[in-house]
Amino acid sequence: MKNTHSPVCGPMGFSIDSLGFQYTRQCNLACDHCCVESSPAVKGKLAQDIVADRIDEAARLGIGTIGFTGGEPMLFSDEIVWLVEKVCHNKQKAVLVTNASWATSARITAEVVCSLKKAGLDQMDISYDEFHKKAGARIEWVGWAVSECRRQDIRVRVRRQRHTVQTKAGIEVAKEILRLRCNDKVGVLYPYGRAREKLPKGKTRYCVSPLRKVPMCDEIGKLLYMWDGALVPCCNGVYSIKDGQNGALDNLAMGNIYEHSLEESIERFRRNLFLAVLGTCGPGGFIILSRDNGNSISWPKEVECACEFCIWAANDERFQRWFRTLEKDHYAILQRLEKFRDVLDRWGLSRCTVLQ
Ligand code: SF4
Ligand code: SF4
Repeated sequence: MKNTHSPVCGPMGFSIDSLGFQYTRQCNLACDHCCVESSPAVKGKLAQDIVADRIDEAARLGIGTIGFTGGEPMLFSDEIVWLVEKVCHNKQKAVLVTNASWATSARITAEVVCSLKKAGLDQMDISYDEFHKKAGARIEWVGWAVSECRRQDIRVRVRRQRHTVQTKAGIEVAKEILRLRCNDKVGVLYPYGRAREKLPKGKTRYCVSPLRKVPMCDEIGKLLYMWDGALVPCCNGVYSIKDGQNGALDNLAMGNIYEHSLEESIERFRRNLFLAVLGTCGPGGFIILSRDNGNSISWPKEVECACEFCIWAANDERFQRWFRTLEKDHYAILQRLEKFRDVLDRWGLSRCTVLQ
């Protein structure tokens, strides 16, 4: 029986119930929208033995779900199968995110899925959308992988990112996925990495203003070890922009897989006011604090998603200088934000809701 674990608590009492590994940054595709700028040319991967140690530690801490993503993690399929076995042995749930490019024929797909099933894989998320298709991904791969997962009783769904400007190619892909009769999870397109350079700006989803809309976060607590070892507090992978280099932003890193145990990193998370504000009220918490403290910093007035605002706050030196002055009032600030969150809860608004 799986998932007997009780989740550990994050900074303000919400649960940390999953841990992901961006196992490699390398990918056999180079999609235009890739926020971690993966491609066949880039290298960098986590060390298998250290990942195994962190999986064991996660089990001890009560984290019930372990995910593997990339780049394309199945470029290292033997290592992934071995790690999935470990996850299964710990009675945790194993999830694989893949572009299914290994599913090149019905026979090969059956073999690969069989080895994953034997190892104990619970769920496969297949990334496929108009951008993957343009980069060379084929719906046949997705079709073979979906039907084989179904045959071998592995939960499967297709995940696609959608630009806020709907395109003909995007509609075509949505129809292809519909024909597979598979669960289809649609996510927003993050304006980071190659997407920032290559794709047109979408329609603005949020107008950032304390009186109108406050961007919230519903993903914090799904921790992710990035390919370079940094542990970040959500699995959105948009942390990779740092002076044009890939790697986690210092302000958003909880620790590093090679330097800190998972438990130490979670403790650093609890002590870090910036992360605690995100955990309590999402990036909207920065706006509330700004308003309370008469800060004159001008934040971006329009962003495409809450994460864009979050990354701006983590990146902007002026904002960070001001934010550090608040640290002496750490607990008072968190109490204030907790009250705000209680109001949202009373109105039945979840953390991911945009406050009108
Ligand atoms: S979006 Fe996924 S499949 Fe495309 S380059 Fe990035 S990691 Fe590879
Ligand atoms: S708002 Fe920040 S913490 Fe929340 S999901 Fe986006 S990038 Fe992650």
